[in-house]
Amino acid sequence: TADVVPQAPEDPLFGLMTAFRKDESANKVDLGIGAYRDDNAKPWILPVVQKADDLIRKDPNLNHEYLPITGLAEFREASQKLVLGGDSPAVKEKRAHTLQAVSGTGALHLGALFLAKFYKPNTKRTVYLSDPTWPNHFQIFNNVGLPYKSYPYFSKKTKALDFDGYIDTLQNADEGSIVVLHACAHNPTGVDPTQGQWKKIADVIRAKKHFPFFDTAYQGFASGDLTRDAWAIRYFVEQGFELCIAQSYAKNFGLYGERAGCFHFVAAPSSDAESTATRVASQLAILQRSEISNPPAYGARIASLILNTPELFAQWEEDLRTMSGRIIEMRKALRRKLEELGTPGTWNHITDQIGMFSFTGLTEQQVLKLREDSHIYMTKNGRISMAGLNTKNVGYVAKAFDKAVRD
Ligand code: PMP
Repeated sequence: TADVVPQAPEDPLFGLMTAFRKDESANKVDLGIGAYRDDNAKPWILPVVQKADDLIRKDPNLNHEYLPITGLAEFREASQKLVLGGDSPAVKEKRAHTLQAVSGTGALHLGALFLAKFYKPNTKRTVYLSDPTWPNHFQIFNNVGLPYKSYPYFSKKTKALDFDGYIDTLQNADEGSIVVLHACAHNPTGVDPTQGQWKKIADVIRAKKHFPFFDTAYQGFASGDLTRDAWAIRYFVEQGFELCIAQSYAKNFGLYGERAGCFHFVAAPSSDAESTATRVASQLAILQRSEISNPPAYGARIASLILNTPELFAQWEEDLRTMSGRIIEMRKALRRKLEELGTPGTWNHITDQIGMFSFTGLTEQQVLKLREDSHIYMTKNGRISMAGLNTKNVGYVAKAFDKAVRD
């Protein structure tokens, strides 16, 4: 291997984090990494997570034994209900199967591996990813040998969804392609289809017999409303699709490093749907065993206690509103300040977009200039993590954007 392994480039996002840490300026602002920060730019442990953690630590029966291959049962069940809804037909008809996974990334990987092995194995299959998308999607599907293509998503001109391009591409894709869909708070653009648009997307996916694979990393974090943020997934399930879901608890519980998440497979309704789900479950268990043996316990215990205890669940919803509310306030503040400064261009997209990120429309050159001149860090595509803004730095950031746009 000594001479055949080429040097790989550094992960751009983690590289950005390192550069930020090294910057000694007192004014530096991190708008790169997608992790929530409070108004003092500090990581925030959700009060409900702290409470659940304290309760778990006090439990005299707590130990460090292995979880089962499929993970913590009460966590899997609660996660299924959270994403599909308590009265989901798929849950009632026992045609949904859930495995605990290594957060959203691990769930995506498990799903990708499963599809690579069992989805139309002897045919040419393509995975369709939105353009742009969370860059890790490319490597996750590529690593299991599934080729990918893009469907248009974002119009640079309107700074909104390129709906016609999106539909047209799915319509012209080979029948039975896999389509990766961001359930809400699209990363990196912050632009989601409307419910009417989702219905049309579902129509094309059905007509072309495509396979929907939902990625849900922001349920409750996006709008502060868990039901609203799950609408697209539940609509597809109601429509009777066979589909997969990768569910992350990194953002909505602030459990980033604990790697809590789930992978769900939902069989289409039919007389043998339950047996399909059982067979799929048996294969997923083998894949899980060979990949990670069994999933990490601690984060799942915390999430599970909250999901399964009504008072804690209610407090969690409060905490979600605190996070999403602060982010929405920062969207308003940034837009207002740019408009007050008369910064060239339009800035309504900042408040129109939803979730952790805003796609500012800043060019790569402006992004690099902001880093050099103002110590403001963001990804080269002009994406900013809204959580990096706070009442103390939003004025500074707006002035720096204004200067970068005018220069
Ligand atoms: N999908 C999307 C779209 C994301 O933004 C993220 C988090 N950045 C993930 C999946 C998965 O993250 P994690 O593995 O930390 O749960």
